[in-house]
Amino acid sequence: MSVTTTTTTETETVEHFAARAAAWYAEQGIARTGSHLKRSQQGKAVFHDLSFDDELALLRELTDWVRTRFDAGLGAVAWPESFGGAGLTQAHEAALARIESEYDVPSPHELVSVTRHLIAPTLRVYDRTPQMRELITPMLRGDLLACQLFSEPGAGSDLASLATRARRDGDDWVITGQKVWTSGAQFAQWGELLARTDPDVPKHRGITAFMVPLDADGLEVRPLRQMSGGSSFNEVFLSEVRIPDAYRIGEVGEGWKVALTTLGFERNSSGENTDVGGTVDQVIELARATGALEDPVLRQQLADVLIAHRLAEIATARDAATPDTTGVGGSMRKLQWTGRLTQMSDFVTEALGAGLVVDDGTPGSFDWTEHVLGAPGYRIAGGSDEVQRTLIAERYLGLPPEPRGDKTTPWRDIPR
Ligand SMILES: Cc1cc2nc3c(=O)[nH]c(=O)nc-3n(C[C@H](O)[C@H](O)[C@H](O)COP(=O)(O)OP(=O)(O)OC[C@H]3O[C@@H](n4cnc5c(N)ncnc54)[C@H](O)[C@@H]3O)c2cc1C
Repeated sequence: MSVTTTTTTETETVEHFAARAAAWYAEQGIARTGSHLKRSQQGKAVFHDLSFDDELALLRELTDWVRTRFDAGLGAVAWPESFGGAGLTQAHEAALARIESEYDVPSPHELVSVTRHLIAPTLRVYDRTPQMRELITPMLRGDLLACQLFSEPGAGSDLASLATRARRDGDDWVITGQKVWTSGAQFAQWGELLARTDPDVPKHRGITAFMVPLDADGLEVRPLRQMSGGSSFNEVFLSEVRIPDAYRIGEVGEGWKVALTTLGFERNSSGENTDVGGTVDQVIELARATGALEDPVLRQQLADVLIAHRLAEIATARDAATPDTTGVGGSMRKLQWTGRLTQMSDFVTEALGAGLVVDDGTPGSFDWTEHVLGAPGYRIAGGSDEVQRTLIAERYLGLPPEPRGDKTTPWRDIPR
C-alpha cells in the first residue's frame, strides 16, 4: 500500500511526515522490538561469514524490503520526485530512520548502502547521459546493485596512482587492468570504475570515471576469502572490456573529481554504521558472565567502551541538529566509530582470555572472534585511520600538508 502523499507546493512538516510514516510501519506486520535486540544486532560479526547462496538470500531479503518501502513513498525521502523520491529533506529522512530503528527490519548490507548512498548520488551529481540517469531509480529501489571499482593492488591510500587503463576506440572505451577489495562485486550488476585515460599528465589529471556492467565480456570477479571467514570483497580483472562512451561519468580526465564526490558521500555515511559487530548491551552481558565487572582494570576498560558509546550517541544527535561546517565531519565520525570497534575488541579479548578462541562454556565465548577478526577491516576501508587523520590535520586544523613530491610529475614517469 502506498502512503498518501501531500501537496508538493508546501513542504510537509517533519512531525506530520513522522506520524504518517509511523502509521505505515505499524501496518506492515513487522515486530516492533524497540530498544530490544534486533536481528541486525544479534551477531557479533563485523563481516558476514556466509556461503554465496546464504549471502544472496540475505541480500534479497533486504532488497525486497527496500522495494516495499520505496513503493510506499518512503524509500528515497530526500530525493526529488523525478527519481521516485518524496522531495523532502534530510530532517525527514532522519525522522524516518528513527522510526525504522524501532522495527525488526532486515539487516543492512554494505553493497546496498554503497549503491544507494554513494553511487546513485554520484550519478545524480554528474547526470551526463540518459543511460546513466536511468540507473538511478532502480538503484534507489533495490533493483540494481553497484559496487565501487576504485582500489588496485598498487593504489589504495594513494588512489590517484591507479594503473587500470581505458583507451578510446571510436564511440567506445576499452578497459584493461585489475581492481581489488571490491566489496560485493559478486552480487552487483554495475561498478563505478576509475581508469587512467592519459598517462602523460600528473596522476590526478589523467583519470576518467565510468559505470561498467559486471557481466561485460572480459570482466571476471574472483571472491577473496578473508580471515574472518566470508568473502565480502573480490578481485576484479578487466581484459579489453568494451563499453560505450555513454557510460562515462563526468568529463574525460576529470575522474578524480568524480572519485572525490563518491568518497565524500562514503565518509559522510560510514560513521553511521553503528549496528555492526555487536552491541554495547552484549558487551555488558559478557562482562557479567566473565566476572570482568569485579576486575578493577577491566571495569575501567569497560567504562571507556560505554563512554565512547555515549559520546557517539551525543555526536549523532548533534549532527542531526546542526549541519557539519568543518568539511571533515565524516572523517571525524568514521575515526570515532573505528575507535569504538577497536575498544570493544580490546575489551572482549581481555575479558575472555582463551575463551576468545575456544568455546570454554562461558556465555559468549568464541562467539566474539568474528568481531575481533573483522574490526580491523573498517580501520582501512573507505580511507584508513591514518588517511582520515591527515584529512583532519590539513583541512580542519590547517597543519602543513604532507609532502607530495609526485604531484606535478606525469604519471608515466612516477617510479612504481
Ligand atoms: C573491508 C574493506 C572493504 C573495502 N571495499 C572496497 C571497495 O568496495 N572498493 C574499493 O575500491 N576499495 C575497497 N577497499 C579498499 C580500501 O579503500 C583500501 O584498502 C584503503 O584505501 C587502503 O589502501 P591499501 O589497502 O592499498 O593500503 P595502503 O594504502 O598500502 O596502506 C597501508 C598502510 O599504510 C598507511 N598509509 C598509507 N599512506 C599513508 C600516508 N600518506 N600517511 C600515513 N599512513 C599511510 C595506511 O594507513 C595503512 O595502514 C576496501 C577495504 C577494506 C578493508
